[in-house]
Amino acid sequence: MRFETLSVFPQVFAPYLDESIMGRAQRKGILDFEAYDLRHWTHDRHNTVDDAPFGGGQGMLMKPAPIFEAVRDIASRGDAKPHVVFFSPCGKRYDESCAQRLATLDRVLLVCGRYEGMDERAYELADEVFSLGDYVLTGGELAALVVIDSVVRLLPGALGDEKSAEDESFSDGLLEYAQYTRPADFEGRRVPDVLLSGDHGAVDAWRRRSSIERTARWRPDLLDGATLTDEERAFAREATRREEGECDG
Ligand code: SAH
Repeated sequence: MRFETLSVFPQVFAPYLDESIMGRAQRKGILDFEAYDLRHWTHDRHNTVDDAPFGGGQGMLMKPAPIFEAVRDIASRGDAKPHVVFFSPCGKRYDESCAQRLATLDRVLLVCGRYEGMDERAYELADEVFSLGDYVLTGGELAALVVIDSVVRLLPGALGDEKSAEDESFSDGLLEYAQYTRPADFEGRRVPDVLLSGDHGAVDAWRRRSSIERTARWRPDLLDGATLTDEERAFAREATRREEGECDG
C-alpha cells in the first residue's frame, strides 16, 4: 500500500516510519511511503505557504494555491488516483473502522495542516477529513503518523503473527481481554488459574468474559454497538451494574 504525505515538515516522518514494524513493512514492500514538501509548489522567493486571515484574527492560514497545485500534481502521478485525506479538529472522528476501511485502498494521500489551519476552499480537495480527537495539535503530521501506523499494522504480513491484529481492542466492538505474562505470581498478585490450565476452551471463554467486563468498566458506550449473544448481553448488563455499584459506593 502506498501512503504519501503533503506537509511543510516532510522530514518528521522518517524517524518514526523507518523504525520497528513500520520500518520492516517498508523493507518488505508492504508500505511504500513518500513525504512531499508543500513548499515545492510555491513560486516566490520565500516559498510562502501561509497568509493572514481575511476579516482579521490571530495567526496565519495556509494559502489555497500551493495545496491545490500540489494535490493535483501528486494525484496525476502514478496509475491510481490517491484517496485524499485532510486533518482538522473539525473532521470526522478517526477510529479503528476508518483504519480498516483505509487498509483496503491502494494509495492514500494525507494532507497535513499547520498554523491556524487551511483556507476553507482547500477542503474541496479532500475525499474525507479526519480528527484524531477533541484537542488541537500544532500540525497534522502526528495525525498522519497515527493513521499510517494504525492502517499498516492491519495489512497482511505487517505484524509477525497474522492473528495479532484480529482479536485486539475494537476489532469486534469490544476492548481486548486482560493479558498476563510470567511470573504467574508477582508479589502475591496471581494470574487467573484458568490461563495456566492449558484448557483452550476455558481460556477462550474467560477471555470473552474479560473483554465484556473491561468494556463495561472503561468504555460502556461501546457495548450498545457490540455483537453479543443474549447470554453475553445479560453478563454485560450485570458487569455494568457492578461497575456502577462500585462507582456509587
Ligand atoms: N484553528 C484550527 C486548528 C488548526 S491546528 C481549529 O481551531 O480548528 C493546525 C493543524 O493541525 C490542522 O490544520 C490539522 O492538520 C492539525 N490538527 C490539529 N488538531 C487536530 C486533531 N485533533 N486531529 C487531526 N488533526 C489535527
